[in-house]
Amino acid sequence: MYTIGMDLGSVASKGVLYNGEEIVAKSLYATGWSPKETAESILKDLCQQASIDKKKIDYVVGTGYGRVSIPFADDTITEISCHGRGAHFFNEDVHTVIDIGGQDSKIISINDKGQVVDFLMNDKCAAGTGRFLQVMSQALGVDVSDLSNLGEKGESVHVSSMCTVFAESEVVSLIGEGNKKEDIAHGLIESVANRVITMTGRIGIQEKIFFSGGLAQIPLLRDILNEKLDTEIVYNKLSQFLGAIGAAIIAYEKAQKKIK
Ligand code: ADP
Repeated sequence: MYTIGMDLGSVASKGVLYNGEEIVAKSLYATGWSPKETAESILKDLCQQASIDKKKIDYVVGTGYGRVSIPFADDTITEISCHGRGAHFFNEDVHTVIDIGGQDSKIISINDKGQVVDFLMNDKCAAGTGRFLQVMSQALGVDVSDLSNLGEKGESVHVSSMCTVFAESEVVSLIGEGNKKEDIAHGLIESVANRVITMTGRIGIQEKIFFSGGLAQIPLLRDILNEKLDTEIVYNKLSQFLGAIGAAIIAYEKAQKKIK
């Protein structure tokens, strides 16, 4: 039996194919202007990778902000629930999920079964999200994916502005004052970490912490969070797919119930 979890995020859309035991294919596309077409492309890609016809897919669960745009979804579930289930799949000792994506960040508390107990979301402002780092790397003249490597070679320069618009001007001033790009890159990643840490103070964290979303791929951010939170941060190379993975697992359970 095969199921698909599809997470249409504000920036990136992710899909995984699941067979009840493991993730057999994964696909990522920029969400773009048409979430519906993006969803179709991901479905095609997943089926091609696994060499199966789409008729073989038993159940599809959509999640993420664009979940209502998936024409072939059997069900939709919030990304908060899907991240909880996904984190539990990788590590049953996880009780907190920190998710930092393209335009929002969330802290999710889960119980021993991976069910959501509480959550806190920042989707009002770009600070502390992928968008913030994208704008800042443009101001620095580097690719966002190089920011971590660059920052690891530097020491933190304090970036005081929380607002993305003001922080961009601050970065330009820091460059003008002769600060090294490496130091500014370090300071920017630290500013994202600080933003999330402020959120953890409002909801509280319980070990272990799973780090999900696109920004979990930033090694320096993982290191800074590890150090500042003094807690082991669990990370997986599929962290950006966590919502899609949770959705695929929930889809599998729903498909089993349908058969019964
Ligand atoms: P969403 O679900 O909100 O669309 P994701 O959780 O998929 O977002 O994360 C997308 C964001 O992650 C983008 O802003 C992208 O720039 C950022 N991102 C992905 N990989 C990296 C990386 N290696 N370094 C820095 N940022 C990254």
